[in-house]
Amino acid sequence: MSKVRVRFAPSPTGGLHLGGVRTVLYNYLFAKNNGGDFIVRIEDTDQTRYVPGAEQYIFDCLQWCGLEPDESPLHGGEYGPYRQSERKEKGIYQQYAEQLIKDGHAYYAFDTPEELEQMRTMYTTADNPSPQYDHHLRMKMKNSLTLTADEVNTLLTNGTKHAIRIKMPENEIIAFNDMIRGDIQNESGLVDDKVLLKADGMPTYHLAVVVDDYLMKITHAFRGEEWLPSAPVHVLLWKYLFGLDKMPQWAHLPLILGPSGKLSKRDGAKYGFPVFAMNWMDPKTNELTEGFKERGFLPEAFINLLALLGWNAGTEQELFTKEELIQQFSMERVHSGGAKFDFEKAKWFNHEWIKKLPVNHYSDKVKNIFENNGLAVEGNEKFESILSLVSDRCTLLPDFYTQAGFFFKDPETLDTESVKPKWNADKQHFFTEWITQLNSISSWDAVAIEQSFKELATAKNIKPGDLQMPLRVMLVGGKFGPPVFVIAATIGKAAAINRIQQALGIFSTF
Ligand code: GLU
Repeated sequence: MSKVRVRFAPSPTGGLHLGGVRTVLYNYLFAKNNGGDFIVRIEDTDQTRYVPGAEQYIFDCLQWCGLEPDESPLHGGEYGPYRQSERKEKGIYQQYAEQLIKDGHAYYAFDTPEELEQMRTMYTTADNPSPQYDHHLRMKMKNSLTLTADEVNTLLTNGTKHAIRIKMPENEIIAFNDMIRGDIQNESGLVDDKVLLKADGMPTYHLAVVVDDYLMKITHAFRGEEWLPSAPVHVLLWKYLFGLDKMPQWAHLPLILGPSGKLSKRDGAKYGFPVFAMNWMDPKTNELTEGFKERGFLPEAFINLLALLGWNAGTEQELFTKEELIQQFSMERVHSGGAKFDFEKAKWFNHEWIKKLPVNHYSDKVKNIFENNGLAVEGNEKFESILSLVSDRCTLLPDFYTQAGFFFKDPETLDTESVKPKWNADKQHFFTEWITQLNSISSWDAVAIEQSFKELATAKNIKPGDLQMPLRVMLVGGKFGPPVFVIAATIGKAAAINRIQQALGIFSTF
């Protein structure tokens, strides 16, 4: 078998949606599982939808996810150029369109936009609300099937604007095998005569995708199921141009479903979860759409959760490293039904990955979050040991700031409501006295601090348990965090004593 070569072929029109990243992931895993190549081809032939910055953004997302292509406009490769606009400049597509005309599978269409509009109005009926340029109507239009050869020649020599359309057979079953869905059959007569080459000489997606998959020696083509309706056109183009034995194996991946049907950007905004891999700022509308990265997801968790949106290993295992996914992934285990996205489950994955990875794996990212909150952190060792103290309490990376910010600065507010009901003079005295003892502790560690705390409590006949919650509120600001004596030891003697003193000032007014 020839070397496996798969491609992700995005159009640079905006942010990269969960579904897009999952398409990348399945392509990547399949390629690596089979010792093959993963190619990224930029499908930028539709200039009206081109968005500056979108291509770079796509590559940034792939880099963040750790899904680097083997070949792409940025990575180079033997089959370039990898941007369709550049391939068009080299005249790659035109010849294939001409070939199709010569073989009787395509034709020149000279209809102006106004004439097309007229056709739509004229043939719209209750039964046919959106008439198509197809075998029913093509003979009523201005094209090389209805004009004489001389008329066509004159129009062409005069440089009359024209498109090239595929001539869909009237009555043929177009069959192909989909790796996920099995045998698929379509009636050719139901499909319109798609434009292959536009009046500006640009190929449409339909022509370019087939020509490029052929020239780039693509063996398997995986894409979202929204492309299923286009498949018959692509299969025919393969048949006419290169032979069906050369056609890649298709797989149309299931939709990712949101709370109300296909997961959309709108769902994200409505329910407050990200749908893009990374923050995307639309340069046309200045609208910012939030990304998983910025919400505080780890790339390891992100690809893990995406892998399981449509695929399973057939075991109970849910946490997979990229290497494990590469080893275990197979197209046979991708389901054809839509996969429901559950943000709570997505967070569970991140929580598990935060616990699973050593903190130095993500401490730089957390440091940035601290810095963005105005807390400059110096050095790594202490910072990382603090992060390890709280990592099992964090679901998203910004949680580290909430869970561990107090290690670096005094709490801004104290949860006095929790302390007030049971505060009394005995407790006040206990802490005042304890401060004196703390001052004389020579080795400032959790064991010594706890010992002095318990001894004094016993001497004063107060249950240590009744004093621990107020102590926690004094040091942390609230009723959360790792063991309280570890906190006292970690923030240091001066800070601990100072926080207790400050809090006592407030508690004494209860
Ligand atoms: N350019 C298409 C897209 O934007 C690619 C579809 C395919 O993979 O064939 O999704």
